[in-house]
Amino acid sequence: MTDNIILEDVKRIVDGLGTTARQLSDQTILVTGGAGFLGKYLVRTLQHLNKHVLDKPCKIVILDNFITGLRGVLEEDETTQVLEQDISKPFTIEGEIDYIMHAASIAAPLMYSKYPIETIDVGFIGTRNLLEIARDKKVKSMLFFSTSEVYGNPDPKFIPTPETYFGNVSCIGPRAAYDEPKRIGETLCMTYYDQFNTPVNIVRPFNIYGPGMRLDDGRGAINFVVAALKGEKIPVYGDGRNTRTWCYVTDAITGFFQVLLSNQHGEVFNIGSDEQEIEMRHLAEIVAGLVQHQDVSIHNVVGPNEAYSKADVSRRCPDLTKIRSVIGYVPKVNLVKGLTRFVAWADETLKKQATTGNHEKCRICNNDDLQLVLSLGESPLANNLLVHGDLDKKEPVFPLDMVYCPKCHLCQLSYVVPPEEMFTNYLYVTSTTQTFRDHFATMAHHLTEEFNLDEHSLVVDIGSNDGLLLKNFNTKVVGVEPAENLCEIARKDGVETFCGYFSEDIVNSIVQLKGRADLVTANNVFAHIGNIQEVAKNVKNMLKPDGVFVIEVQYVLDTITDLTFDNIYHEHLSYFSVMSLKDFFARQDMGVFKAEHVETHGGSIRVFVQKSGGTRPEHPSVKEFIEKEKIAGLDQFATYAAFGKKIEAIRENIRTFVQQAKQQGKSIVGYGAPAKATTALNFYGITGEDIDYIVEDNPLKHDKIVPGVRIPIKSKEAAAQAPPDYMMILAWNFADEIVKNNEPLRQQGVQFVVPSPEVKIV
Ligand code: UDP
Repeated sequence: MTDNIILEDVKRIVDGLGTTARQLSDQTILVTGGAGFLGKYLVRTLQHLNKHVLDKPCKIVILDNFITGLRGVLEEDETTQVLEQDISKPFTIEGEIDYIMHAASIAAPLMYSKYPIETIDVGFIGTRNLLEIARDKKVKSMLFFSTSEVYGNPDPKFIPTPETYFGNVSCIGPRAAYDEPKRIGETLCMTYYDQFNTPVNIVRPFNIYGPGMRLDDGRGAINFVVAALKGEKIPVYGDGRNTRTWCYVTDAITGFFQVLLSNQHGEVFNIGSDEQEIEMRHLAEIVAGLVQHQDVSIHNVVGPNEAYSKADVSRRCPDLTKIRSVIGYVPKVNLVKGLTRFVAWADETLKKQATTGNHEKCRICNNDDLQLVLSLGESPLANNLLVHGDLDKKEPVFPLDMVYCPKCHLCQLSYVVPPEEMFTNYLYVTSTTQTFRDHFATMAHHLTEEFNLDEHSLVVDIGSNDGLLLKNFNTKVVGVEPAENLCEIARKDGVETFCGYFSEDIVNSIVQLKGRADLVTANNVFAHIGNIQEVAKNVKNMLKPDGVFVIEVQYVLDTITDLTFDNIYHEHLSYFSVMSLKDFFARQDMGVFKAEHVETHGGSIRVFVQKSGGTRPEHPSVKEFIEKEKIAGLDQFATYAAFGKKIEAIRENIRTFVQQAKQQGKSIVGYGAPAKATTALNFYGITGEDIDYIVEDNPLKHDKIVPGVRIPIKSKEAAAQAPPDYMMILAWNFADEIVKNNEPLRQQGVQFVVPSPEVKIV
C-alpha cells in the first residue's frame, strides 16, 4: 500500500512528462542527494522511465553521503549505481555524464540547524564541484536545486514572489547556514553559465511535501500529519498566522524534469503551488479534519529552535508566471487531494514502523519490563537462503533474542524484522511433506464435522501457502498469502488466493465478493505477525456472528520441555501458550473456547476462538491446558531462564560430536534445510567446514546455500552417489519420515544422527 502510493505518483509524473522524457534514452544521469526526499522520487521516476518508456534505458548514478537520506531506500538495479560520496570533498566520476540533477542538500530547518557546516559545504563547495563535473563532462543540462529561502522573509509587496525579487535575507541569522550557500550556489551556477557556457538552470522549490519524507524531518506538513495520526497535539509554532503554499511532490518532480529537459539555460524558475496561500493554523485544521483521530487537538507552541522561533518566514507564495509560460509547468494536485494521499502514506508508514525494529513493549499487554530468556546473537534470516551470486556480499544479520513478559507470560523476540524482508518470496511449501499433507487433510475433515460446514460455507485461510489446507475442504474457500510465488502455485491448483497480508482492504474485498466466513484458519502464521491486534480486528470483521477462528501455532511448553530452541527465528515473533492467547483474545473482545494439542512442528496447539458473546460454552480443555502450563512454570521467569541454560549445554554437546567425528576422518552431511536448521547451525557455529552439504527434498532449495554458516544444499542423489558416514537430521520433526524414506542409505552404512536435545544415532 505504502509503496503503491509512491508507485502511482511516479506513474503520474511519467505520464505528465509525456514524450519529453524520451531524450533521456541511453543517457547517463547523475543525481546527487538521491537518498533524500526529492532525490528518491527523481531516481524512481528515472527507473520507471527505464522500464516503461525509454527505447534504451538511461544509466542512473546516485551520489549521497547518507547524512540525512536513509540507506536502503534506494533500489539498486542493473541501471542504477549508488555511490556513497560527500560531494563537498574532492571526487571524480568515471565515464560520461549527460545530465546532472544536483539535489543534495540538508533542507529541513531542524536538520540544517543540527548540521550547519555540512549544509554550507554541500550548497557551496558541493555545487562548485558539480559545476566542474558539468563543465568537464560537457553535460547537456544541469539542474541546481536551490530554494525559496533565497528570498528570505519577503516584503509583502513581493507576494506572490517573482524570480526577480532580490530577497530580504540575513547572512548571519538562524536560517543563514541554509539560505546563504544556496545563494552562493546560484551565483556559481550563473557564473559558470556566463564564463563557460555551462548549460545549467536553477529551480527554487516552495514547500514541497509528499510520501517518502522522513517522518522525523520536522517540517510543517509532516509534523502535523504524524502528530495527528498518533493522536497527539498538532504543534503550531507561534501564533500560526504565518503562511505557506504547499506543493505536492508529483507536481514538483514533473516541473524539475521539465526544466532539466527544456532548451532554456542560465535561467531560474520558481517551482511550487500558487493555488492557496494558507496560514499554518488553518493547515493544522485541515490535517486534523482529514485524520479524524479522536484525540487530535491543535496547540500553539514555541518553535523548537531559532530558525522557527526568531527567524520564521511570515509568508511564502511563488509567482509561477515564468515557469508556466516558458516551461509549460502546471501544478495539478490541490491541497486537500495532496494531503489526503500524504496522510494515507504516513499512516501506513507509521504502522509499519510501530511494528518493526526494536520491540521494547509486550505485544499483548504493553508492559515494557521484559526479561531476557535467551540470546542467539546476530543471526541471518533463516528462510532467506543464499544463491551463489550472494557469496561475495555481506549478509544482513539481525538480533535474535527471546524475551519474556512477566505480566501476560508471552515470550517474544526483542527485534522485529520488516515482513517484506522475509515473506515476499517464500520457499517453505506446505505440501512438500507427507506429514503436512496428512495433517491438513485430517484437520479439514475434523473442522467440517465439528462446525457442520457444507458447500455453502466459506472458509478463509490466513497465510494459505500453496493452498494445501483449503484444497481439503468441500466448502467455498479463499486463501490470503503474501508470497507471490506461493499464490501462483495455489491458483494453478484452483484455490482462489488473494496475494497480500490479511489487511483491512483484503478482508473488505473478500466480504464484498464472497460474504462473511464461517471459519477462518491461521496455521503456523499467527506467531509470524507483529500487529496481532490488527489481525484480530480483521478476523472479527471477516467472521459471521457465530463464526470460528482456529489458530495452529507452535506451543511454547513443547519448546521449553523438548528444548526445541531452533524454533526461535526471526519469523516467529511470539511463543504462545493457551494462557497468553486467552489473555490476548480477551483484550480483543474474543474468547478462546477450546484448545487441543497437535504434533506438528515439534508440538503445537490448536486454539478455537469466537467473538465475545458467541454461543459455544468454554470446553474444559481450556482450563486443563492453563493448569498444566502453571504446573510447568510457564508463568515464572525461572522456567525460561533454566531453558536458556540447557540450550547452551546442547551447543557444547553437538560441537564435541562434530569435532570428534572430524578427528576420526568421518564425513557429515545434513538432512533438511528448514529455517530451524539455519538457527541451530548458526548458534552451534557448525559451518561448511564441518558439514559438507545438506540434502533437501524440496527442489526449490537445491543449489542454494544456508545463510551465515554457508553450507550448500543438494538433492538426495548427491548422498546416494557418495554416502557419508553420518547424516545429521536437521529437520528433526520429520525424523521418522526421513529415516523411513532413506532406508537404502542406511543399508549402505550411513548413520542417521539426531543432534538435539541429545546427540543420538537413530
Ligand atoms: N511549523 C509549525 N509546526 C511544525 C513545523 C513547522 O507550525 O511542527 C511551521 C513553521 O513555523 C513554518 C511553517 O510551518 O512557519 C513551515 O515550516 P517548514 O519547516 O515546513 O519549512 P519553512 O517553510 O519554514 O522552511
